[in-house]
Amino acid sequence: MSLSLEDITLTYPDGEGRLTALDGVDLDVPAGTLTAIVGPSGSGKSSLLAVAATLATPDAGRVLVGGTETGALSAAERTELRRRRMGIVFQQPNLLASLTALEQVELMARIDGRGRRRSGEARARARELLATVGLDGLAHRRPHQLSGGQRQRVGIARALMNAPAVLLVDEPTSALDHERGAAVLDLLGRLTREWRTATVLVTHDRARLAVADRVVELVDGRVGAPAESSFP
Ligand code: ADP
Ligand code: MG
Repeated sequence: MSLSLEDITLTYPDGEGRLTALDGVDLDVPAGTLTAIVGPSGSGKSSLLAVAATLATPDAGRVLVGGTETGALSAAERTELRRRRMGIVFQQPNLLASLTALEQVELMARIDGRGRRRSGEARARARELLATVGLDGLAHRRPHQLSGGQRQRVGIARALMNAPAVLLVDEPTSALDHERGAAVLDLLGRLTREWRTATVLVTHDRARLAVADRVVELVDGRVGAPAESSFP
């Protein structure tokens, strides 16, 4: 399932006027590919992810998920689309302090609109995903017993729990040292291919853009020239 943004404009209220965070942005992310978004702080990267996630409604333009125009959906239908089709990894994973890694991931199946999934099944799947992100053996740890990188990986496993078609990840390596950051980006590249997700990754880690099929640079809410260094 592909993700397409067409001519997106997004503004925020700003005193008397409006601040333009995204200005005519086009983005096409086919299934099984990873697009990296780079650009300076304040250039609109997180706004772009919020629009792609249907969490922010653009002033103009269209967001298509698997060819479905999300602007035509009701709020309830968009929520359902997010739950069933999207994995969203925010900059801070916001894990629940009282739950183990396994429980955080498993919980996603319970709040999935489909419900009624047998709990043994959900648990087995959550275990499998923790192993996929390299956390087997740490499934019973709570957030305070995990490193920043390990918490990020719990967030990624959680985002994968409902087998998303679209994976949206905001600066997953900002809290990590270089080596761990590289491991997280490699993991996202591998998962994109294995799971055939349309992945958008916001990153400032320009040294690691080889993981991306495409690199898009945002400058003042506009798509600039592609970052040349990323192409072999
Ligand atoms: P980035 O993620 O690239 O740092 P953002 O998308 O967060 O950029 O922000 C783009 C611009 O929109 C910035 O000028 C920021 O101050 C502004 N902005 C972001 N979120 C809001 C908001 N909720 N209300 C008003 N302005 C916002
Ligand atoms: Mg941001």
